[in-house]
Amino acid sequence: PVDVAGRIANLLGANNRAAVVHAVAGVDLDVRAGEVIGVVGESGCGKSTLGRVIADISPATEGEVSYQGKRLQDMTAPERRAYALGVQMIFQNPMASLNPRMRVLDIIGEAPVVHGIVPAAKKTEYVAGLMRQVGLDPEYAQRYPHQFSGGQRQRIGIARALALKPRLIVCDEAVAALDVSIQAQVLNLFLELRREFDLTYLFISHNLGVVGHVSDRVVIMYLGRVVEVAPTDVVFNRPNHPYTQALLAELPTLETTRRAYQPIKGELPSPLRPPTGCSFHPRCPHAMPRCAAELPALRTLADGHASACHLNDLQPATPA
Ligand code: SF4
Ligand code: MG
Repeated sequence: PVDVAGRIANLLGANNRAAVVHAVAGVDLDVRAGEVIGVVGESGCGKSTLGRVIADISPATEGEVSYQGKRLQDMTAPERRAYALGVQMIFQNPMASLNPRMRVLDIIGEAPVVHGIVPAAKKTEYVAGLMRQVGLDPEYAQRYPHQFSGGQRQRIGIARALALKPRLIVCDEAVAALDVSIQAQVLNLFLELRREFDLTYLFISHNLGVVGHVSDRVVIMYLGRVVEVAPTDVVFNRPNHPYTQALLAELPTLETTRRAYQPIKGELPSPLRPPTGCSFHPRCPHAMPRCAAELPALRTLADGHASACHLNDLQPATPA
């Protein structure tokens, strides 16, 4: 059992003890190989930063990322490049991340040739295989991004990420821009590819409903801090943190348990000047005087379930 309230995280290891993330204040993330972790929060909560730090696109302002027992900053340049290659990102707007002047063949096939993953002579064949795997006709390899629909462009982005043989894919609002019906198709594609390519996912979204559909565990973030980490079924059926409960109350398909919770009130405060103590206190229906004064620590309630709320001090933690 991994103590999710512990300091450091374990990201995609062959033996489940490989990489470590302590990237954003209060983030202690433990990702097991093959897992889908959802990261949920309003915009500005730090979830995109967390993804970018893990992908080694942005530097960690606090804490560190390590992989196979080695901190990124202690790696040799080739080790660090290999790490970064093994973590690929898929973004919300595929149009913005696909070069409009490049053919799909090159968008997907250029980087794997450059990185020696596939010989140049095999590029067309390699790209065709990837296109088939994401549900695109390889005949379209000579086309440009604008000749595809939004859903197809996102499939191109997925094929481009897969081409580099990543271990971890960070999806940052990867389906947010798509129609609801297309969203479901792309989410299902992610799940199919997970099995086929033995992938681990970090699925970042403002939408708890989307994340709940695909994730094994969910990390709830609020204003740069993790407020709750739990297996997905616990998040949906026995959420501990009042913010998580408020997110559930806002989901369109309300079930009885969720009706018990109050939707979130008020505006999101500036992440640059978060409220004192528990930063959720101005919006929390259960706030006590202590909440404005004291930052609640992320506390383990049960195996794999942690929450940062002073209410948990009022009752003994559920035995694991
Ligand atoms: Fe609400 Fe207080 Fe818990 Fe924060 S610590 S979520 S303000 S009850
Ligand atoms: Mg974001």
